[in-house]
Amino acid sequence: MDECSLCKISENIVPSFKIYEDEDIVCVLNIFPSNPGHILIFPRRHVERIELLDDETLVKMIILAKRLTNVLQLIFKPVGYLLSINTFREYEKSKHIYLEVVPRFEEDGIKVILPRRKVELNELEALRNKILEYLSFKEEKKEETKQQEEKEKADIDINSMLKWLRKEI
Ligand SMILES: [Zn+2]
Repeated sequence: MDECSLCKISENIVPSFKIYEDEDIVCVLNIFPSNPGHILIFPRRHVERIELLDDETLVKMIILAKRLTNVLQLIFKPVGYLLSINTFREYEKSKHIYLEVVPRFEEDGIKVILPRRKVELNELEALRNKILEYLSFKEEKKEETKQQEEKEKADIDINSMLKWLRKEI
């Protein structure tokens, strides 16, 4: 992608302050940081949407973000972090997906404002049912007895969760 600044960083066409790179991911300091220690992590190949990113690369990005928060904690002692994944930003020239890690400090002036809209509970119920239907999870549940469901809840672990998440949708 000729116009993509992250691809240019990835290919060393433009200089950057790299923290980590391997065959799949690249991690740099943001040159326009919102706060000290503002870091960007992105896939080496040009991917614009999270649904097109392979699971392994996404997991690597998140694990690196977690490790970096441990380091940033020692350097800056922030009160917390904002972690966000920016995926397909229509308004930006460069649409390469990235995960950003922004250390947060008391009164740092950063405002993340998501509007809180009021909805009816039955709308949420309908939406949940629709999502579960698409996930092919609801139908499986119907076939099980309540007792089995209880047992499954008790037995749930990260492996079964991952197995479920990896199912074809
Ligand atoms: Zn790119």
